[in-house]
Amino acid sequence: MPRSAAGKPAESPCAFDSRGRPARLRYNSQFMSELLEGKTALILGVANRWSLAWAIAQAYRRHGARIILTYQGERLRLTVEELAAELGADTVLACDVTRDEELDALVARLKEAGTRLDAVVHSIAFANREDLARPFLETSRAGYLLAQDVSAYSLVAVARAAAPLMSEGGSILTLTYLGSSRVVPNYNVMGVAKAALEAAVRYLASDLGPSNIRVNAISAGPVKTASARGIKDFSKVLDGVSQHAPLRRNTDPAEVGDAAVFLASSLGRGVTGNILFVDSGFQIMGL
Ligand code: NAP
Repeated sequence: MPRSAAGKPAESPCAFDSRGRPARLRYNSQFMSELLEGKTALILGVANRWSLAWAIAQAYRRHGARIILTYQGERLRLTVEELAAELGADTVLACDVTRDEELDALVARLKEAGTRLDAVVHSIAFANREDLARPFLETSRAGYLLAQDVSAYSLVAVARAAAPLMSEGGSILTLTYLGSSRVVPNYNVMGVAKAALEAAVRYLASDLGPSNIRVNAISAGPVKTASARGIKDFSKVLDGVSQHAPLRRNTDPAEVGDAAVFLASSLGRGVTGNILFVDSGFQIMGL
């Protein structure tokens, strides 16, 4: 067993006890490895330090990846630049995923710099606030199309733009939610967009598999983020999960980050077209 300078057995995430049995896992979210050493990840969707994309960026960085972040519009540029500096991310680029010209410019900048991508994270969604509060039946055509464009179609656009930069294969990851397949009060038009997003994951996985590019989604349990606050009565959803999920607690964003590391690393090399639930097990419950 490795020993620390003090002569005690060094802390390891998978140590063995004195009888050679695996000891209780001492893993914590500060655990570091070289799983993503030499890999470069483009991460879209960091708005602030509560964003799931931020938890993923931190986890990727801890495991050795070089990080490139994007921001949508000048409003967020400073915040994202500050977070990038904190993380040691060397590039921050603008990208509104509804604008093909911004996606093209992003790819052109990366190409110019000779950047090869190994991982892409799409952590983006948007719907009108009123569509997340009134009955789904009342969804307008414009509100429906907006949610689909930003939250589902954008994965197709991002994958098409990024794939040529993933010359050695890699991982594309998006974020989804249980509201894609079950009715969650007030999730409404976003649930329908997530259903489309999950179908897009499967079709993209099929198209990009021959290039050794894997496409997966993490279905995260509810987490209090800026986007989630737009959903009416979101705190009731959080309460329901903490009371009824098998693990009796809500999802820690760091758990999403760690699962994302698995999918981006060679440990996940056989996984594509998959929806991985990181939700304290809530999705298995009937009642
Ligand atoms: P968040 O911090 O608000 O992240 C959403 C991101 O999407 C923001 O950075 C937002 O930027 C960006 N975005 C919206 N429209 C965009 C556009 N046109 N172009 C580029 N970026 C755009 O909230 P989050 O909860 O971490 O959400 C990330 C993903 O996780 C979403 O797909 C969400 O549905 C999914 N998810 C969340 C939960 C949850 O409970 N929080 C659970 C499961 C899945 P702006 O701030 O500038 O709009």
